[in-house]
Amino acid sequence: MANPILEVENLKTYFFTDEGQIPAVDGIDFHIEEGEILGIVGESGCGKSVTSLSVMGLLPSPPGKIVSGRIRYNGEDITHAKEAKLRKIRGNEMAMIFQEPMTSLNPVFTIGQQLIEAIRIHKKMSRKAASEKSIELLKLVGLPRADELINEYPHQLSGGMRQRVMIAMAMSCNPKVLIADEPTTALDVTIQAQILELMVKLNKETGTAIMMITHDLGVVAQVCRRVVVMYAGKIVEEGLVKDIFNHPKHPYTQGLIKSIPDLHDKKKRLYSIKGNVPKPGSIIQGCYFAPRCEFAMNKCHTEMPKLIGESHRVRCLLHGEE
Ligand code: SF4
Repeated sequence: MANPILEVENLKTYFFTDEGQIPAVDGIDFHIEEGEILGIVGESGCGKSVTSLSVMGLLPSPPGKIVSGRIRYNGEDITHAKEAKLRKIRGNEMAMIFQEPMTSLNPVFTIGQQLIEAIRIHKKMSRKAASEKSIELLKLVGLPRADELINEYPHQLSGGMRQRVMIAMAMSCNPKVLIADEPTTALDVTIQAQILELMVKLNKETGTAIMMITHDLGVVAQVCRRVVVMYAGKIVEEGLVKDIFNHPKHPYTQGLIKSIPDLHDKKKRLYSIKGNVPKPGSIIQGCYFAPRCEFAMNKCHTEMPKLIGESHRVRCLLHGEE
């Protein structure tokens, strides 16, 4: 590990509901190095978003609870930090952006009012200085006519512009880690590409590490250095993007790669992995992917594979002997 800024160790996050205990995140280990872009990929229901909410201390509790494991930010254990401490970390050190910016922006305040407020919560600054900083941030994220935009309301902006505003807001306190939860899913393809480009540019210019949460391995291929593949609350494969794309080892990762649309052959039928992610909490013996796996063997239905390997880790009995 070079310089980990964020470390997650054997994290288990469960939901306690009337229907019983649901292990949404079931013992995961990963880290993010300073300044890198790490992808966390998987279909919905795999535990990606619960992982990010656990890291940010934003888990709805109850019903969610971190039942074991550690989250370390810059070497400091923040797993069960008090809300005041977490609030300080969020915004100053770590920030998060979500899929639909409209849910995070307040429709009754102008963009400028919201940016100024975000800046002044975390930094001692006059209103005038915060207003100048807001314009600077809007320019940083590539928004045109920034000095007029600060007087406009969220509904006057397009989806792509609103996501840029959210990125500006997240970057307002120079965070060391930015968690982006499906930041481009609600946008159309050309805008998606622009937002991803912007995130790579900001990562290069500011050194902010990014945890990119997505269901789309195509997004990972475009922007990430390493990737963690999650399935049913567990990590099933992890490694450098180039290794995972050239030699995917887990049948689930292989299926996700095959599902990436081929832009050069639009007539080609899209591949999709048969079946669905098991409902969180459903009891499956052995490998959780076995009901969907075309390589499943008898032992896969009784034995839970371990995550093995070092720089390229995989959880599959096909690779048990390596
Ligand atoms: Fe498929 Fe078996 Fe590997 Fe699970 S352990 S992914 S069922 S081959």
